[in-house]
Amino acid sequence: MIYCKNPADDKRSVRIHRRGIAMKKSILSLLIIIVCGTTHAQSNSRIQYLANEGVMVTHEQTKILIDPLFDNGFGRYQMVPEEVRAAIFAGDAPFDGVDAVFVSHFHGDHFSAEDMLRLLRAQTGTRLYAPAQAVAALREISGADDAPVFDRVTGLDLGYGEQPVRIDTENLLVEAVHIPHSGWPTARTDVQNLAFRITLNNNSTVLHMGDADARIVHFAADEQYWEERPIDLALPPYWFFASDDGVEILEDRMDVRHAIGIHVPDSFSNQANVPDELVGVDLFTLPGEGRRFEGSQ
Ligand SMILES: [Zn+2]
Repeated sequence: MIYCKNPADDKRSVRIHRRGIAMKKSILSLLIIIVCGTTHAQSNSRIQYLANEGVMVTHEQTKILIDPLFDNGFGRYQMVPEEVRAAIFAGDAPFDGVDAVFVSHFHGDHFSAEDMLRLLRAQTGTRLYAPAQAVAALREISGADDAPVFDRVTGLDLGYGEQPVRIDTENLLVEAVHIPHSGWPTARTDVQNLAFRITLNNNSTVLHMGDADARIVHFAADEQYWEERPIDLALPPYWFFASDDGVEILEDRMDVRHAIGIHVPDSFSNQANVPDELVGVDLFTLPGEGRRFEGSQ
């Protein structure tokens, strides 16, 4: 497995040294450059971290936002910087021409109905894909003039155990399945938490899991679905990396080329506070950081 142009390569190299394998880092880097340079020269995908589980993903002219607008960090999670929020609402670069926004679930650290309505009113070329619960919250605060807004809204009323949905558009392939929120089976079972698998321009596939519970049982039922498409970049909540089931899901149940943990507590922005079991894991901890990655479709 080759990870192209990613800081995680350095972390992997460190782990390889720790295991005592005598391979010079410079040789490994050279191999990565040769392989990536020959097989993925045309790819140019990028992810930018906004905060908590908010990201922007771009491939060429196609641009999507996932969980970008929320108004509550519960005193534990980072908020999207005010200047970034202002640029998203205004459609200023790099947030100009956003094709679609995705919402994993309607909790306050992922979604604000007020903010989303404001964005959809301002950016009339942007579509929304969200759980029906989030769309219901949006409708509650909307006015009589907002009919054109809802022409661009797709509400997904998916329940646990239901078949994944697939929506094919000109530049986006949107697939979604309900994965229970963390806390299952005793808490937050009423929340529609969607894992979106989104392919940009038939090239780059990202998986955003919302606040998915890290148990294999949720992924076993749709074995074929999870195996049918390689995932160039998975964005699991960080607790997947601290769970045997979570690691198995990412490594064995799906064809994931690289994963970055999100939803980390604010305290992780100080490396000293990252728990031992997460050291060496690629995590987004600072709003504004980003990575390039290569599409494989
Ligand atoms: Zn949540």
